[in-house]
Amino acid sequence: MKAIVLRDGDTITLDDRPSPDTRPGEVLVRPDHVGICGTDLHAPLLKDLFVPDVIMGHEFSGEVVDVAPGVEGWQPGDRVTINPNGDVCGECDQCRAGRPNLCRPTVLGNAIGVHRDGGMASLVSLPPAVLHRLPDGVSGLRGAFVEPLAVVVRLVRVAGFKLGDRAVVLGGGPIGLLTVQVLRRAGASHIAVVEPSSSRREMAGRLGADIVIDPGADDPAALFGGDLPAPDHVFECAGIPSGVRTAAAIVKPAGTVAVVGICPEPLDMDVSDLIFKELVIRGSIIYVEEFPAAIRLLEQGAIDVESMITRVMALDDYDEALGLLAQPDESVKILLRP
Ligand SMILES: [Zn+2]
Ligand SMILES: [Zn+2]
Repeated sequence: MKAIVLRDGDTITLDDRPSPDTRPGEVLVRPDHVGICGTDLHAPLLKDLFVPDVIMGHEFSGEVVDVAPGVEGWQPGDRVTINPNGDVCGECDQCRAGRPNLCRPTVLGNAIGVHRDGGMASLVSLPPAVLHRLPDGVSGLRGAFVEPLAVVVRLVRVAGFKLGDRAVVLGGGPIGLLTVQVLRRAGASHIAVVEPSSSRREMAGRLGADIVIDPGADDPAALFGGDLPAPDHVFECAGIPSGVRTAAAIVKPAGTVAVVGICPEPLDMDVSDLIFKELVIRGSIIYVEEFPAAIRLLEQGAIDVESMITRVMALDDYDEALGLLAQPDESVKILLRP
């Protein structure tokens, strides 16, 4: 079968792999739609995270085609979406404390599409622990957005966001645009998005931002607290070294900076903002119990994912897809159809 693999950990490429059998205790799934994530794009740089030669793809929907003997609750034809970090150890201190998103054996050793084969292939054998049933109202295309949406639901929750709060979102990529939509649904009184790409700014406006700011034309640190009230929360979804510094400069005293954008370089920030404003800088990694909420939001049509999709492409076109995603003005989200 065709599969997108991280060859030798260095290059993302189309490969020919033997079709997998259903592993003991597992379920064989035929992936339907697979999102290409920013993490996938940077996989060749994330040597500590991705396992060489893994089949990629951690944001996907699919259909069960086979079930190993003894596995209960699933049968061929079931439509599913995948929690790539759902097969937690259940035994470490973090799992026992109800924080399976911090379970190191899972997140750093057992994630689907990162450490073990994922959805960018015709078939994949998966443990039942990673499966969530998709209701009829959620298409396979929408089902590929459950994973990133669950990330965003948790991000907004851990920020301590409340009805009527003001928010700034740094970055108008897929996570930033989902954050805008979740904040709107959660009752934000004002949402500003800071994003250099004009097409992404325009999309942020369509999806619920009250204002959009081009950081190349206007300095956000000068705008907020000047012409614009300082926000209660800043969501760093850009993953750039200066992001947290900008966030700390514009957020109001006692405000929250919630960080989800992974930046390979060290942060660059002014500690006096942290101290003199008594800021809370809060990281957020994946999800704990947000999958059902994300599925419900998509079932209710509360989140517009269709507008965020630039193209739906075949596995064969992965190279073109990666090229498009490297140009933020040309694309937002690209899905593959194995
Ligand atoms: Zn992802
Ligand atoms: Zn654990």
